[in-house]
Amino acid sequence: MGEITFLGKDEAMDYEQFFASKIQDLQTEGRYRVFADLERQAGSFPRAMNYRADGSVREITVWCSNDYLGMGQHPEVLAAMHGAIDKCGAGAGGTRNISGTNHYHVLLERELADLHNTESALLLGSGWMANMTALSTVCAMVPDCLVISDAKNHNSMIEGIRHSKAAKKIFKHNDVADLERILAAEPLERPKLVAFESVYSMDGHISPIKEILDVCDKYNAMSFLDEVHAVGMYGRRGGGVAERDGQMHRVTIIQGTLAKAFGVVGGYIAGSSAMCDFVRSYGAGFIFSSSLPPAVAAGAAASIRFLKQHNEIRERHQERAATLKRRLGEAGIPVLPSVSHIVPVHVGDPVLCKQASDMLMDDYDIYVQPINYPTVDRGTERLRFTPTPLHTDADMDHLVASLQAVWDRLGLKLAA
Ligand SMILES: *Cc1c(COP(=O)(O)O)cnc(C)c1O
Repeated sequence: MGEITFLGKDEAMDYEQFFASKIQDLQTEGRYRVFADLERQAGSFPRAMNYRADGSVREITVWCSNDYLGMGQHPEVLAAMHGAIDKCGAGAGGTRNISGTNHYHVLLERELADLHNTESALLLGSGWMANMTALSTVCAMVPDCLVISDAKNHNSMIEGIRHSKAAKKIFKHNDVADLERILAAEPLERPKLVAFESVYSMDGHISPIKEILDVCDKYNAMSFLDEVHAVGMYGRRGGGVAERDGQMHRVTIIQGTLAKAFGVVGGYIAGSSAMCDFVRSYGAGFIFSSSLPPAVAAGAAASIRFLKQHNEIRERHQERAATLKRRLGEAGIPVLPSVSHIVPVHVGDPVLCKQASDMLMDDYDIYVQPINYPTVDRGTERLRFTPTPLHTDADMDHLVASLQAVWDRLGLKLAA
């Protein structure tokens, strides 16, 4: 047995001090995150109650929710969830393999396969888990797979690719020529996967899906498309931008969430039976994690079913986003060029971005979260507005006037 030696007090690491200093770093940089304490009000979305540090509670208007269509309070979704709770209880009771496959999961996977017109779909605990699990499993197990990933891909895709330990190259954001340059430099027989999104949620960009799939075909690459910010909102039945563009049948792996436009929680992939069965059978994030509560699956299925049949909600959503962009533009508020339902407003400094957000909340009862590094690049800090079909003209009047006042108070630059 070796002798135990104790370090002197100054040599030993002070863990608490370490944690505190890392937090201090964030505070110094002005990007320490403070969560808004909200109580959502079913039936009056986008209104919510805000519990403040001073003990007061105020009704505010939420302008940054990813419950893009207000489905989180839709009567059909709530009825489906209540029904499933009363029938099945709270949790699913296990992993999918060990007693945790509830009939509502099976129905939801059918609903998802129908949404994307694919042979199959596979449900996971969240969209993050779906990206992490599918990418890490596919890219690790396909021999010598090269992953080519858009520069602005979401953290969950980056983590999945990294975890796979596959070789990775980055193509310039939405740049098909750069993607083709990388693909063309590889032997045709080398397995490849191109990972990208349809709607990039911090900028509101939409990718050229057809052109990307064309080069995937040309160089025999698999395609992995994150439609998290598009499902429910684009396409005739809410299948996403790939549906809108007539490209849905060409994608190897479509990935989506049930937590944004569908208003509930959970993630999934859709594609061929063999691909879904492969991830079901080898994906650790699927195998070793308990399945979603049956009521969540029932609510998500009801939401998807409803949105398939109600294109007018998508039309209203696009109209609201276009109207807000126009009105902010007319008021000189610097809206970043977005071709989607997302309305990003440039601030360009983390401290001012947080101050603008705080002022809007404290003095105007408007909630929009500041978006700082690492979610976006330094120097591009922004306020990201997500108008929904439930935001009224009066809500917009109040928002535009409040932003003008805040821009004036903080001396922020107006657009030319
Ligand atoms: C939110 C998000 C995810 C993760 O989805 P969750 O269901 O919230 O875990 C994946 N990809 C993108 C692009 C996202 O914005």
